[in-house]
Amino acid sequence: MIQTLLQLEKRHLWHPFTPMQAWCEEAHEPLMLVSGQGSYLKDQHGREYLDGNSSIWTNIHGHSHPTIHNAIRAQLEKISHTSFLGFTHEPAIQLGKALVDLLPGSALSRVFYSDNGSTAIESAIRMTLQYWKQNEHPERDTILAFDRAYHGDTLGAASVGGIPIFKGSGNDFGYRVVRVPNLEALDALSVDEVSRLAGVILEPLIQGSAGMRLWPKGMLKGLSQWCQQRDVFLILDEVMTGFGRTGSMFACQQEGVIPDFLCLAKGITGGYLPLAATLTTERVFEGFLGAGRAFYYGHSYTANQLGCAAALGSLQVFREEGTMETLSAKTASFTQHLETLREIPAVMDIRQCGLIAGVEIGPYAPELLMGVKACLAARKYGLLTRPVVDTIVLMPPLNISETELEAMFSAIRHAITEVIAQ
Ligand SMILES: *Cc1c(COP(=O)(O)O)cnc(C)c1O
Repeated sequence: MIQTLLQLEKRHLWHPFTPMQAWCEEAHEPLMLVSGQGSYLKDQHGREYLDGNSSIWTNIHGHSHPTIHNAIRAQLEKISHTSFLGFTHEPAIQLGKALVDLLPGSALSRVFYSDNGSTAIESAIRMTLQYWKQNEHPERDTILAFDRAYHGDTLGAASVGGIPIFKGSGNDFGYRVVRVPNLEALDALSVDEVSRLAGVILEPLIQGSAGMRLWPKGMLKGLSQWCQQRDVFLILDEVMTGFGRTGSMFACQQEGVIPDFLCLAKGITGGYLPLAATLTTERVFEGFLGAGRAFYYGHSYTANQLGCAAALGSLQVFREEGTMETLSAKTASFTQHLETLREIPAVMDIRQCGLIAGVEIGPYAPELLMGVKACLAARKYGLLTRPVVDTIVLMPPLNISETELEAMFSAIRHAITEVIAQ
């Protein structure tokens, strides 16, 4: 049965970010994940693994949590999905209010739903460009982004679209992008360049796909002030950092910053179903009011009812289990465990933000794939995770226990020691 499935898999499927030649080789047996409970996942042979990267940064409270399952089940008894174009529904309304309430007193009062991190970002960028195009500053056609930033994979789809009204801002995505390395570089921009800026986009506190790179303390605050002084929109991509991962509910709260757009996805449903939200202000919302104006953008599964129910279930777990209150002790223990890895000579750098860490080994030539090898070795010791080049990502779900943390670090220590000995 398993062998038949895996033959079909190799014959018919195509995986993201995956060199498919090696994947399809006879000797490669893909890991098939069958079930999960708490911090653990089980494969086709019944072997268990700690979910060391929260199933690619999505899971928050562990797998098969009864509260989230019940929330999804209760919704399933009513209906799974209805269109959000021209209709509304209770789970979306309740969730919208709950999300806004997570940032009490902030100007973020409007919630636009989509399906994934990329579309949460795309919504914010299109809103930004369309806002300035139709209000006050049509010359503002440029988004400023940072070197090594990662904001998702979908923009290409819009650039080949052929229906002008679906292009919102009217330009042909390719919109203009200016890229800078850091906050200081903003001061080197010409007056002319700054006058064309519609928005600035940032992963606050830590850049994920860049290899868990930390911004200097105060960078976010400084950027927020820079944007406010020039009335340029600040778009924060909290697709990875949202929902407790960095120690606060949202990373922006650690520097007292409220952006013009807050993009949420991955952990929003606790990691159970695909859903995303782009939060913004009344000012932006009002810029789309008036005859004939609308935000011409949306997806078929926008505000999926099961997804909204799962997200409400996840927020319920935050309240009932006091998840946020458990984090500082957990993070302190995480830090201590990370420190012990510094004894391993190949560990070059350790970067941590809350329950997110990157353990960089090397220096190695990238083609040696040492990060990949270390993560493959970790499987033998009961840990699943993925590297970014030679940075091993450790991002456990927030429910992880002390015993599980110990198991995770024992596995990663064995794995690194093993591959560097070869
Ligand atoms: C994962 C991620 C995205 C993209 O989210 P998808 O759901 O994969 O489209 C965007 N930004 C950041 C910071 C992410 O980590």
